[in-house]
Parts: sequence; structure tokens; C-alpha cells
Amino acid sequence: MEKTLVILKPCTVQRGLIGEIIRRFERKGLILIGMKMVWLTDEILSEHYSHLKEKPFFQRVKEAMRVSPVVVCCWEGVDAIQVVRTLTGVTNGRAAVPGTIRGDYSMSMQENIVHASDSPETAVIELKRFFNDNELYDYKPLTLSSLYAHDEY
Ligand code: ADP
Repeated sequence: MEKTLVILKPCTVQRGLIGEIIRRFERKGLILIGMKMVWLTDEILSEHYSHLKEKPFFQRVKEAMRVSPVVVCCWEGVDAIQVVRTLTGVTNGRAAVPGTIRGDYSMSMQENIVHASDSPETAVIELKRFFNDNELYDYKPLTLSSLYAHDEY
């Protein structure tokens, strides 16, 4: 099974949507194996958004991520990285398809509810960036055999 990082952004915390967004992932059948609230630093955000450092909105995106604490989560499942990206929808909330998280909750390119790792390589790097090893739990829910066929996981 894969592990992926999701960050519930300050816009989500401010709007009181933490529970609703967590529920989306739970309802899908993803397994929550780590979660904490943290106030991110400019340093960690510069690293996390380094692929945007030449963009004019780099500073603004980082500042928006420091308006309040965020909730960082690790979700586990078969193909979890792609499944979470599909549930999340495209970057621009106005263009995101209804039914996706951004499509249902966001009107913005920047204030778009969640961050989700975009590949297996970045998921490994990002999980290490935000979690210590002892903050991720190795357990299997009792519902696993109802979530998957036995040869799927
Ligand atoms: P995604 O979060 O969909 O993987 P990116 O990695 O391209 O998208 O961008 C990271 C974050 O930076 C986005 O989620 C969004 O909050 C912000 N962002 C990206 N492009 C823009 C833009 N043109 N204007 C404002 N904010 C942006």
C-alpha cells in the first residue's frame, strides 16, 4: 500500500471544514495513519514549495500557509497517491470538477483547501518533511477485507 501526505490548509481550518474534508478521505476507504496540527515555518514552506520559487506568487502562497496552523495527515491505501489527487481535483478551485474536494469547497487558485503529494517520489520526501517516523502508525483496520478483494492489497 502507498502512503501520501495531505495538508489541510489554513483556509480549511479557518472555515471550519477540517471534519468535512477528513470525512471525504475516510469515506473513500483511505486509512488515516498519522495526523497533527502544526504552525508551519517560512523555512519548511520554502522547501515544500521550492518548485514555485521563481513564480511571482511564491511569497504570497507561503504567507497564506502561515495564516493559522494547518492539519497534516498521512493516508494509506492501494494507489493512495493517485486516489487522493483524484479526490482533490485540479489546482484552481473554480475549474475543479464538482464532486472533487476543490470543486466542492474552493473558489480560488490559492485558497484551495488541501495540499496532496503528486507522485510516489514526492510523497516519500514530503512525509519525511512533516512527520517523524514515530508519528506514523502501522496498523490495519478490521474493515480491510470489506475495502479490498484479498489479492488487491
Ligand atoms: P497543486 O497544489 O495542485 O499540486 P502546485 O504544486 O502547482 O499545485 O502549487 C502549489 C500551491 O500553490 C497550490 O495548491 C496553490 O495554493 C498555489 N498556487 C499555484 N499556482 C498559483 C497561482 N497561479 N496563483 C496563486 N496561487 C497558486
